[in-house]
Amino acid sequence: MNDDCLFCRIAQRRLPAEIVAEDDDVLAFKDVNPQAPTHLLVIPKSHIARLSDLTPETARVVGQTVLMANRLAQQSGIAEPGYRLVMNCGPQAGQSVWHLHLHLLGGRPMKWPPG
Ligand code: 5GP
Ligand code: ZN
Repeated sequence: MNDDCLFCRIAQRRLPAEIVAEDDDVLAFKDVNPQAPTHLLVIPKSHIARLSDLTPETARVVGQTVLMANRLAQQSGIAEPGYRLVMNCGPQAGQSVWHLHLHLLGGRPMKWPPG
């Protein structure tokens, strides 16, 4: 845990968020500034600042975030039309919160490349 980290504080329930699911290792909540009808964030409960900080010991949590996102996509009814999972790594990719997070976006058609 990192006391200065926004998403650690959400995971610790020290900041409010619309939490939609959790298990022992990951937490899912609504993005405060949604970019699609469904826009959820899935985070590891442990603090990992960015994708490039993963190690063989911590990499498993990425699979756990994807499995959670897949389950939430199914529950939200966006699994069949399709959805997008995004992890931004670093400022040029658009990362603005320095705690690993997976975006689950769906409910509208999406363009590629994202720009
Ligand atoms: P990034 O740009 O780092 O990939 O994504 C960060 C995401 O976190 C953004 O989509 C932003 O809207 C969301 N976000 C930032 N601060 C908060 C917050 O305090 N609460 C919630 N629920 N989402 C946040
Ligand atoms: Zn954190």
